[in-house]
Amino acid sequence: MVGRKVYVAGHRGMVGSALVRRLEGEGCHVLTAPRETDLREQALVRQWFKENAPDVVILAAAKVGGIWANDNAPAEFLYDNLAIEMNVIDAARENAAEKLLFLGSSCIYPRDAPQPMAEDALLTGPLESTNEWYAIAKIAGIKLCQAYRRQYGCDFISAMPTNLYGPGDNFDLATSHVLPALIRKAHEARIGQGDFTVWGTGSPLREFLHVDDFADACVHLLKTYSGEVPVNVGSGQEVSIRELAKLVADIVGSAGELVFDGTKPDGTPRKLLDSSYLAGLGWTPKITLAQGIASTYEAFLANGAPTHTDRK
Ligand code: GDP
Repeated sequence: MVGRKVYVAGHRGMVGSALVRRLEGEGCHVLTAPRETDLREQALVRQWFKENAPDVVILAAAKVGGIWANDNAPAEFLYDNLAIEMNVIDAARENAAEKLLFLGSSCIYPRDAPQPMAEDALLTGPLESTNEWYAIAKIAGIKLCQAYRRQYGCDFISAMPTNLYGPGDNFDLATSHVLPALIRKAHEARIGQGDFTVWGTGSPLREFLHVDDFADACVHLLKTYSGEVPVNVGSGQEVSIRELAKLVADIVGSAGELVFDGTKPDGTPRKLLDSSYLAGLGWTPKITLAQGIASTYEAFLANGAPTHTDRK
């Protein structure tokens, strides 16, 4: 990485900002694009690549959101993500970038894939319907990397993170993922501004990885991996949503009862990655779930916890 120009696409997001933090110690030049370079616009992306000529590209830009947002904005989740991937991946080829890392998601795997889900479960069955739009776009991104490797010899790789969380997360209750939503709700319950409502039954199982661990894994993959297989990046730390809510309540110090809202969807019953391939490449996570939730809550407080009025 030393001396290389490394472009982090999506540097304002939770993952992109963690990557920028992580790359600081690598002796590389981190490049970011201004907000006006809308990555859905091919001409703007081509122009930016021509002017900046990155050696390495990390594609962390995406339209993302939790279970409710995915279900309610299917066109945006499909179109925006396809457009971003096509434009950035092709511009990287056109400008002869040495390496590109595409970031996917564990929701690319079939809803009923055997657990834990290994990389070869891809495209072996139907997807979970609540996020299939996003998943289809991400599968297309993996396939683009594989196709560009085969046809053009590009060293384009993919990583599939499990559910990520950490500083810079989205705490808007309508569009966030479960962990930031629970942190916010527990906080509001603690200060007497709401109850601690958990969507669904509480029984789905999820695996969580702190975004700083993920950024570290990305750098490890850039240095050590060249291949077609989209590499899973998980923590192996699986909890039920009910257990997670209790853990968050303990850490935040919210004493109230948990209320379950059965009108909200559970989504896929279980989503655990098999990360043994990555372990074989020499990488394992360092941040425990309890440590990660505590530091994310601190960051939430330090950034000025959102007020009750923007609660949806
Ligand atoms: P998923 O992993 O793609 O299903 O996405 P989410 O992180 O949005 O949801 C994970 C699980 O947490 C689902 O079973 C949700 O129903 C459950 N959940 C419980 N409370 C909440 C909440 O307040 N927000 C969200 N987004 N999910 C919640």
